[in-house]
Amino acid sequence: MQITIHRGTQEIGGTVIEVTTANTSILLDLGLPLNPTSSNLDITKLTPDAVLVSHPHQDHYGLIDQLDSQIPVYIGEVGKELICATRTFLGKDLPNNNFHYFQKWKPFSIGDFTITPYLMDHSAVDAYAFLIEAQGKRIFYSGDFRASGNKAFLFDKLVADAPKNIDLLLMEGTMMRRDSNEFPDEASVRNKMEEILKEQQNMSFLISSSQNIDRLVSAAHACKNTDKIFVIDIYTAWVLEKIKVLSSKTPTMDWDHVRIYADNGPAKVVKENPDYFGTFQKRLYSHRILKEELKAVPAKYLYLSKMSKAKIMNIYKDFGVINLIYSQWLGYLGYTNEEYYGAEDIAAYKTDPGVNFIYAHSSGHATLDVLKKMEQVLNPANLIPVHTEFPNDYLKEFNNVKLLTDGEIFTFAEFKN
Ligand SMILES: [Zn+2]
Repeated sequence: MQITIHRGTQEIGGTVIEVTTANTSILLDLGLPLNPTSSNLDITKLTPDAVLVSHPHQDHYGLIDQLDSQIPVYIGEVGKELICATRTFLGKDLPNNNFHYFQKWKPFSIGDFTITPYLMDHSAVDAYAFLIEAQGKRIFYSGDFRASGNKAFLFDKLVADAPKNIDLLLMEGTMMRRDSNEFPDEASVRNKMEEILKEQQNMSFLISSSQNIDRLVSAAHACKNTDKIFVIDIYTAWVLEKIKVLSSKTPTMDWDHVRIYADNGPAKVVKENPDYFGTFQKRLYSHRILKEELKAVPAKYLYLSKMSKAKIMNIYKDFGVINLIYSQWLGYLGYTNEEYYGAEDIAAYKTDPGVNFIYAHSSGHATLDVLKKMEQVLNPANLIPVHTEFPNDYLKEFNNVKLLTDGEIFTFAEFKN
């Protein structure tokens, strides 16, 4: 058996890992790089029998477009729906891949391989680790994971019933050298939001990814508990619509404390794709909120915004100091506007007297102690770092570490057993 990390040995995102036997080849993720200086990878040269997508984040699936459409792509069904949602709102065609859906904890086969998907806690929903077995060897690929979100129990479940005799662990390390800060978990973020909303005299804005479902749930619950209204855009409403099958607790646009700001672009997308959206379009308008309503009582609302929407925040500065709850990785604020549209505008709000800038974010990724816990319970014979900027740090933090470079072919026989 051979393992090749085509990309991901020294960077976060853009993950592409190939596992092969003499008869079968599979790819673990087919990600778009996050880093502009990332290594180039011509994926048309890869001819796997199948691709496994661990979760619906671009840096793990973003290159499936370039794949021969006949090649099977295995993914969770809700994850695939979220990929379709994103693409529809970006005005792109739906992916024409040959999708197959796996079920959590249910093993399935691809040629020589037996694969068991482990549902994990991550900032994306429908996120999985994979146990991959072939020729008497057992590989565990962590995907992206954490143990501090609303689904932290999934990590406890893995710890309680960890697969045994792991020959190789491929484990992410996004958080190496990153501080977990004062928000150790999702609950602490929600508490902070409530604290801000309770006192607000003007509108509060929330900057967060629309696919960070835990964060949307926290915001919706914080609004409910403080009798405020969570104002979301059409895209976010559609994301919530797609994931409500996962839990009855998921807030949707039907909630009393959720309303929709119907901006023109997304409204047009919905109008132009009636078959895709079905009854959503009609229902959407009954949950709409108008600019006049927002301006009448701005202190009633928590407005989900984006880095690129500083202009909207400026409008409400006329009514007094606004709250800006920044709820994603702080590193984005060091980017230029070209690297991340709007980053400089939002960074400037940190020192703007008209803005009360509040940082409230808990990472989608495992902290070092959680990584150590995973290593401890899986007790792998070999550990290879992936999805990290600091692979060398693994040498001092973990046992049996093997460092690879991108594209380096490693034969399983060379591994310590
Ligand atoms: Zn991810």
